Amino acid sequence: MVLSSVLGFPRIGANREIKKAVEAYWADKINVEALDKAAAETKLANWNAVKAQGVDFIPSGEFSLYDHVLDHSAAFNVIPKRYVGLGLSPLDVYFALGRGRQSAGVDVPASEMKKWFDSNYHFVVPEFSEDTDFRLNYNKALLEYKEAQAAGIKTRPVILGPISFLLLGKAAKGAQAGFKPISLLPKLLVLYKTLLSELKANGVEWVQIDEPILVLDTAENLEAQFTSAYTELAPVAPKILLTTYFSRLDKNINYVAKLPISGLHIDLDRAPDQLDAVLAALKPTSIVLSLGVVSGRNIWKTDFTAAIKQGQKAIDAIGSERVIIATSSSLLHTPVTLASEKKLTAEQKDWFSFATEKAHEVAVIAASLSGSQDAAVAAALEANKVSIAKRRKFEATSDDTVRKRVAAITPDMLDRKSPFAVRKEAQAKHLNLPKFPTTTIGSFPQTKEIRQARAKLGKGELTEQEYEDFIKKEIEHVVAFQERIGLDLLVHGEPERNDMVQYFGEQLNGFVFTQNAWVQSYGSRYVRPPIIVSDVSRPGPITVKWSSYAQSVTKKPMKGMLTGPVTILNWSFPRADVSRELQSKQLALALRDEVIDLEKANIQAIQVDEPAIREGLPLRRADWDAYLKWAVDSFKLATAGVGDTLQTHSHFCYSDFDDIFPSIQRLDADVISIEASKSDMKLLTTFKQYGYSNQIGPGVYDIHSPRVPGEQEIKDRLAAMLAILPDSLLFVNPDCGLKTRGWKETEASLINVVEAARWARKTY
Ligand code: GLN
Ligand code: ZN
Repeated sequence: MVLSSVLGFPRIGANREIKKAVEAYWADKINVEALDKAAAETKLANWNAVKAQGVDFIPSGEFSLYDHVLDHSAAFNVIPKRYVGLGLSPLDVYFALGRGRQSAGVDVPASEMKKWFDSNYHFVVPEFSEDTDFRLNYNKALLEYKEAQAAGIKTRPVILGPISFLLLGKAAKGAQAGFKPISLLPKLLVLYKTLLSELKANGVEWVQIDEPILVLDTAENLEAQFTSAYTELAPVAPKILLTTYFSRLDKNINYVAKLPISGLHIDLDRAPDQLDAVLAALKPTSIVLSLGVVSGRNIWKTDFTAAIKQGQKAIDAIGSERVIIATSSSLLHTPVTLASEKKLTAEQKDWFSFATEKAHEVAVIAASLSGSQDAAVAAALEANKVSIAKRRKFEATSDDTVRKRVAAITPDMLDRKSPFAVRKEAQAKHLNLPKFPTTTIGSFPQTKEIRQARAKLGKGELTEQEYEDFIKKEIEHVVAFQERIGLDLLVHGEPERNDMVQYFGEQLNGFVFTQNAWVQSYGSRYVRPPIIVSDVSRPGPITVKWSSYAQSVTKKPMKGMLTGPVTILNWSFPRADVSRELQSKQLALALRDEVIDLEKANIQAIQVDEPAIREGLPLRRADWDAYLKWAVDSFKLATAGVGDTLQTHSHFCYSDFDDIFPSIQRLDADVISIEASKSDMKLLTTFKQYGYSNQIGPGVYDIHSPRVPGEQEIKDRLAAMLAILPDSLLFVNPDCGLKTRGWKETEASLINVVEAARWARKTY
């Protein structure tokens, strides 16, 4: 009998209950008990939802109020000293780690966040040092297992594996030079043993241990660690299902197959080609193989015929008792349920499958592979055949104009007219910015009023004209504010945008939108990615109206603001029937037209945000070049169509460029702004080493928290930056994301930024 399994379920609630509860708790509107209650309800709803679909292995322990890696750090007492002894409750320490805290006598910044592998989810980076005082503060996996058990649901607890935990972390500031978190493995294993033996003692049959690090190149060197860790853990643990996802094991399978584990999970959505090698390696063992055939990363219906074929291949090789049908990864990256979508057409709805529906898919595929004669299974198989055939038919139609335009792209379309040195002079005359020009990354606070106006427009309570007038007032306000505090290169504030990707998707052909398909990006921040369903083109100008209006109310230069092709692609659910490269180029051509239109409308600087270029990097280095080629080409295609005087900016939400620096250089943006406030200055050294000559705006303060940076703090950061970078390269700006902030802290912080820049002009 082939069993079915879900590796993890979205923890945001079907109606974003967790976001609402967590934010209410932060705002002191509800107490811990109310927060716990909301959490308990969502956990229960999740378990029931997965169970109702007929899934055999139901996950528990992966629920989180903020981030599952942070949960793990908190449970293992991996809490940096700066968060200790502040008189906060454990829960408030937990949130302080995630988002910083500024309250009566307490002022701590948030910990660093990083992208979770190549997804758009961010985790809170654990900090380790030789002093890390591991303790098992609580056994979250066990607590949630029991919670489900009390509700009559048997689950398979999920925990993050010790080696991935250590490798996802970083050395704490005070750690000794050369300290490597992995050196803590023996110490950490002692606690994993406690955790796992407690699970076993409580009747847990299987535990899912996530070691996604196994799909990275670095894992090649970790055979000894994996062997010793799992040899130590297996005897005291329940049956271990070791899970890998998002890429392929490659030769790591050779040692993984020798580990004393009971099951192994592989991702056949992202890495279908690994099946043969994995089967060959597992054949002589008794390890159960969990096949991730239902994508945890996209929203397309699974093609049952194809999945069943893979499943059958595995059965033929190792027997049905050793095969499990599973989601490729946790369903964290997919929306909760298609049932909440009331506006999709019947045709569109039939293409998709969200978390709840995916749970049903694994159950049906497993049942079919088990030879089920159940009428419901037969019906589901038949319905899937019909749906897939319809989608394939739709995919066969294409927009010939767009396809031809992509085919006609020539190399000269990727380069600006003159080299940067020439452009820099032209722009200096044209824009006339002071030394250390100040600017922001685009958005200003998205207030309740703005969101309400948009909602009213949607409901027909505001006319287009009324909404437009409202947005114009907002723009006036944002522009006046920037003028008042003395910023140099202004922005319009993006009040018309619900989201930097969704907004563009809505103005382009080829996208479909959902009402409720939220996925967690980090903490209480959720996004609703658009879905690319067909060829992409631009029916007309998108932002020109707003940018021109903003420019019309000020004499200072206005920076137009667009989201780049790679970011739109990476933050959407892409099509699965054509390459990402083709989708990216189509987006780039649409944006190229927009950039040229902005230039025609006399906008003098245009920022094209590409925060997702790096996170889109394939997990395996061998695949990088091919990706970077089309990703960078897409950006260039979008931005190179303008004259020398137009200053192009780009923005990245990160700054670890070491390994992709030549590609960053190849973008040839006139100015790039990067997130820098939470990282040390090492990153700027990279720019220096490579002799980067275009301009750079490293973020001078962190925006992901309401904390206001002091003037001195910013001066110190500028001084540190200027110790590395030549004066002429530096722009002064905060990190990105002002839209998530309130006006109060925005105002106070930006005033300090401008003051610090003034100080720098006098001092340097
Ligand atoms: N222009 C966008 C903003 O400021 C950029 C956001 C981002 O990089 N994530 O909101
Ligand atoms: Zn950013």
